[in-house]
Amino acid sequence: MIKVDKDLCIGCGTCAALCPDTFQIGADGKSEAVNQNNMDCAKKAAESCPVQAISAE
Ligand code: SF4
Repeated sequence: MIKVDKDLCIGCGTCAALCPDTFQIGADGKSEAVNQNNMDCAKKAAESCPVQAISAE
């Protein structure tokens, strides 16, 4: 399950830049996972997130 903890997310955009098909910055300025199709990319995004807001497992 690919998930973003919106309480932690600071909306830096790194995950959306790395995996634009998986993460989008919503109207609230926070990232969300829009599908579950690319776990490999989501894992890389999770490693790159500065606040560890992404879980991908
Ligand atoms: S990389 Fe982390 S902090 Fe940055 S937008 Fe994505 S989930 Fe939010």
